[in-house]
Amino acid sequence: MIIRIGKAKDNDFIVGDPHVSRHHARLIREQDGALTLEDLGSTNGTYVNGAQIVKKRITFADKVVLGNSYPLDIGQALHAGNDYSDQFLLLKEVYARYIEQKVKIQSSNQFKTRLFQTLPFAIPGVIGLYIGIAGKGSPVLLGVSLLITICIPVTGIFLAARQSSKIPQQLQDISNQFKIDYVCPKCGTFLGEIPWESLAKRHQCPSCKAGWVRAN
Ligand SMILES: [Zn+2]
Repeated sequence: MIIRIGKAKDNDFIVGDPHVSRHHARLIREQDGALTLEDLGSTNGTYVNGAQIVKKRITFADKVVLGNSYPLDIGQALHAGNDYSDQFLLLKEVYARYIEQKVKIQSSNQFKTRLFQTLPFAIPGVIGLYIGIAGKGSPVLLGVSLLITICIPVTGIFLAARQSSKIPQQLQDISNQFKIDYVCPKCGTFLGEIPWESLAKRHQCPSCKAGWVRAN
């Protein structure tokens, strides 16, 4: 992909600066993502990190200046060529993290809920057995035993219910954040709960046609 940069209207990235030539430079994006900047015989030159260049491999970290003073935003120039592949690539991590968090919440809650549901029936059984052996015939111990047998299961059922009611809220929270983060880098449309790899196969945004995957 080639992005033509300059003052003339037929450029991909039009720069309205008096020191920038009509057809000043071009930015070439190779298929492997590498960037090459080429000066097109401009009057005031093209500079990379302070040194004048004719043709040079550059990265996003390089400071590019056109003419005397126009700082070129490489990302913006690429957007002019409709290339949003760098930002789209970041969404891969967003999707992976979302799925990971979701699974974590579900499995951790499942464990706690099960624990609260099981313990109240196991503990009184053990205690009841112990009291039965240790304090045969004592009305006080019988009362304590009954109290435990009733209170612990009730508490356990209450805790289990409370724990399972937390799940929808936590999932709702991460789902809301996901809807903010997993959007087209150009138009901001939520991309749905679709795996990143499937989206990458579409190559571009169905709404705004922004290029998600680098074209030749
Ligand atoms: Zn879009």
